[in-house]
Amino acid sequence: MAQQQIAIEHSAKARNKANELHSERINSKTWYGKHWIRDNKREALYRRDNGCCVYCGISFEKTKRQGIPMTLDHVHPRELGGSNQIDNLVTACLVCNCAKQHRGLRGFLKYLRSIGVGTTGIARRVRRQLSKSIVVHSAGGRKTKLKPISGKVIRIKMRN
Ligand SMILES: [Zn+2]
Repeated sequence: MAQQQIAIEHSAKARNKANELHSERINSKTWYGKHWIRDNKREALYRRDNGCCVYCGISFEKTKRQGIPMTLDHVHPRELGGSNQIDNLVTACLVCNCAKQHRGLRGFLKYLRSIGVGTTGIARRVRRQLSKSIVVHSAGGRKTKLKPISGKVIRIKMRN
């Protein structure tokens, strides 16, 4: 994946605001917390996206250094009926996730352009990542491939 950095503001102020919003959401005990998806599936999605935010390209290592959590974003928002399936979930740093709010992809890109942020390649990258399979590692070393095909997610058991 291209490591193209777009100019979403990752300043201390933006980070604090994002962290504040995030803990509010987690405290409100809605689906926003960490437990709406299993850790092994979450990790498989992070692997699919090479550990980089699909929106700004920031890497896991960099978010760690900057104190920004990496999250999963519902491309089509949950509030608007978006699913928890892998073909609706992308790796997103908390700053981008919070900036996106309850917007769909098109709305988010439009918003970014309105604040002067270039969005070239983002939509294509998001669609490309969403079309990829993931491999989920279960306890006991079992692996299951989840493959998105025309609106469904197919489960394929894998040999070790
Ligand atoms: Zn980001």
